[in-house]
Amino acid sequence: MPKPKKIQKTPKKLVKKTRLVRPALEPLVLRTLRGMKDILPEDQPYWDQIRRTSERLSRDWGFFRIDTPLLEFSNLFARSIGEGTDIVEKEMYTFTTRGGDKVALRPELTAGNCRAYIQHGMNILPKPVKLFSSGPVYRYDRPQEGRYREHYQINFDAFGELDPILDAQVIQVAHRLIQSLGIKTFQIQVNSIGCADCRKDYRDLLISYLESKKNKLCQDCRSRMENNPLRVLDCKEDKCAQAVAGAPQSIDHLCEECRTHFRNLLEYLDELDLPYIINPRLVRGLDYYTKTVFEIWSGSEEGKKNALGGGGRYDKLIKNMGGEDTPAIGFALGVERLILEMKRVQAKPYRAPKPRVFLAQLGSLAKKKSLRLFSELEKNGIMAAESFGRGSLKSQLKSASRLGVEITLILGQKETLDGTVIVKNMITGVQETVSVEKLVDIIKKKLKTDSVVVHHITQGM
Ligand code: AMP
Repeated sequence: MPKPKKIQKTPKKLVKKTRLVRPALEPLVLRTLRGMKDILPEDQPYWDQIRRTSERLSRDWGFFRIDTPLLEFSNLFARSIGEGTDIVEKEMYTFTTRGGDKVALRPELTAGNCRAYIQHGMNILPKPVKLFSSGPVYRYDRPQEGRYREHYQINFDAFGELDPILDAQVIQVAHRLIQSLGIKTFQIQVNSIGCADCRKDYRDLLISYLESKKNKLCQDCRSRMENNPLRVLDCKEDKCAQAVAGAPQSIDHLCEECRTHFRNLLEYLDELDLPYIINPRLVRGLDYYTKTVFEIWSGSEEGKKNALGGGGRYDKLIKNMGGEDTPAIGFALGVERLILEMKRVQAKPYRAPKPRVFLAQLGSLAKKKSLRLFSELEKNGIMAAESFGRGSLKSQLKSASRLGVEITLILGQKETLDGTVIVKNMITGVQETVSVEKLVDIIKKKLKTDSVVVHHITQGM
């Protein structure tokens, strides 16, 4: 018999060295990132109301839904929104993918829509091409009430029409949307920042004015003066607002074409009886705008006013991106801001239809059968509630009356074997036994619902 091999012992020193050292687990941080939030079920009626209203209005005004990715190449935003803007300079979530692409979370929706317009050759479609979109956008801003790092926007864009009648129509859509949400008091501000031609002279004029006020401007505005002087006009700092009070105004320096465009827009707005004010300091924070710009402000009397949305023309954007020369106009509304305002003015959120029937079951066989019965009711448009996990009839009936249903269906062992169901009228307490085959018709009659509940499936915002 061969001698058993001597098992060599691992030297103690080595054992110590090779022992698995578990890395300490980073503690789970059980909260959302700063500036981001969960939208809980109790807030969903407001979101539903905005989703439903904007989808209905987009259809009524001939805007077709488009959804684009949350991520795009980062230079799409840098080139369209502008290198010198706050959004691009300070607020973009930019990173490099494993494949080496430089990408960014979209800080707004228009740039992606323009990219899609060019990519999918929408220029061959009858004009105007009207697109509607909604969804989250990302800006690494300093969070506060109504200002988030992830917020949602409702966005309308119309491509291929130069006529200011479209500017008026787009402002009308924004007005209708806000009004349809139950917000009655708000202010539309309009301005024209001209085209590349007239803006050049205006820009020079503005820079020389700003030079004379340089030491009264904030640090940001001093650097804005060089690369984005128009932005100095809407700086929120008090000292800057005072310093620019006497600054030349773009509407006094428009070329003939831009002046006529603006005058016609105002005439259309008058024709529509849309109240507006001309705000000569309104410039918007994105570089792509030309001619018409507008914003809509909430009308809270307590002093704190919020921008509910804004937009304008971007006649050169598609061309600058490499597409055909295509005039365009659009606007975006901030969903969270709309909800804040809806709550402030106590506007009614959407009330989803509630179940009018409760399905109770007793015993294991009935429990099994009730799953199928529930599905039958649903297929026939009868919205029912249940608590299949509960065994006691008493607790199920308690749930039914807490929900305020009109009818409770009771399926016990006997009924299951007989192919029947007990139908209990929760208001009178009267019960009757009916056959399963006739159940749907009987309930429909009882609820007097010829109109079957339609389940709307709305796409996630
Ligand atoms: P903008 O294109 O930047 O004017 O954004 C359009 C609208 O989105 C604004 O008028 C606001 O209602 C809303 N909005 C913009 N930034 C934020 C933010 N950081 N948090 C919440 N809402 C925002």
